[in-house]
Amino acid sequence: MVTTLLDRIGSLVTNDPSYGDGSPLGRLTDAALVVDAGGSVVWAGESRNAPAADAYVDVSGRCVIPGFVDSHAHLVFAGDRSAEFAARMSGQPYEAGGIRTTVRHTRAATDEALEANLVRLLAEMRRQGTTTVEVKSGYGLTARDESRALALAARHCDETTYLGAHIVPAEYEDDPAGYVDLVSGPMLEACRTYARWIDVFCETGAFDRDASRAVLDAGVRSGLGARVHANQLGHGPGVQLACEAGAASADHCTFLDDADVAALAGSQTVATLLPGVEFSTRSPYPDARRLLAAGATVALASDCNPGSCFTSSMPFCIALAVREMGMTPDEALWSATAGGAAALRRTDVGRLTPGARADLVVLDAPSHVHLAYRPGVPLVADVWKSGHRPS
Ligand SMILES: [Zn+2]
Repeated sequence: MVTTLLDRIGSLVTNDPSYGDGSPLGRLTDAALVVDAGGSVVWAGESRNAPAADAYVDVSGRCVIPGFVDSHAHLVFAGDRSAEFAARMSGQPYEAGGIRTTVRHTRAATDEALEANLVRLLAEMRRQGTTTVEVKSGYGLTARDESRALALAARHCDETTYLGAHIVPAEYEDDPAGYVDLVSGPMLEACRTYARWIDVFCETGAFDRDASRAVLDAGVRSGLGARVHANQLGHGPGVQLACEAGAASADHCTFLDDADVAALAGSQTVATLLPGVEFSTRSPYPDARRLLAAGATVALASDCNPGSCFTSSMPFCIALAVREMGMTPDEALWSATAGGAAALRRTDVGRLTPGARADLVVLDAPSHVHLAYRPGVPLVADVWKSGHRPS
């Protein structure tokens, strides 16, 4: 197997506390990394101890971090909602119903147009250091349109999520229970082979507790893992439901009471925070410090979508998490890499130690702190995916 030595790494974040400084980031200085052509990390440590390899790359003192794991994104859609954003920034509130605009455009789009937009956004994410992305459906809301979105997503991503329960579509406005039956029955049947996860938007104006539970239970019975859009626009039952259902992640977590925080801290359910949404809707940010202090696992993700947050940038989310949510630069980086991996129940990504997938980012900076210290600056110099540097 051909191996490559990445040498003269000024600062290497492994996310394994048994390495380097012993912090959760497991940070080494004057470090090196060996990756193989099979796509795995085979060695990490100090430069002076590095083994020989077939090829050599000089990182020139820059920082190397695990590729970002963006565990929440909605990338299969058509249409532009910049006018809605402009209206919101002129004082109109965000409402979940805006999703219907995208549903209309998505249903009318060709497969080719949807796939081209998806591929463009995935490439945009890659350029910013994201190497694992979860992609949701949720803008089709018919069996045909949801399964088409997931089939397209599955061509390009390992992490695909069936979100038929994004919102009740206009044609079911008078029969929301009928729509829940569709989502839990024939639509699920059409989608399950293309999806790893099932998700539900548990929120006033979307799906209530009982409907959300019915959707999740049906998905889990079909072999899908559960995730929940929870407590975004106000306090609700979403977080408790996610923890009870054994969901991998409760996403948003903006409005939490003490019982919600305790439930997250006492479960395997990751609290995934999406600060780009609060930024883009001019809303109060979730309290990351409170979750961390309680012992919950926190992930950061983009929630890239055409309505409430159209950023694809994990570095931007890190900067927001540090500036607006009280996270330290170390915590924010961990949450955007290892935290995202935990939210997807993955152990092969989000870390850079032997056996991990060789997904890594070279930052044009001496340390990862620059991600928050230099917001908006394109610091991603190089992205390796599965041991290969894309040409
Ligand atoms: Zn979302």
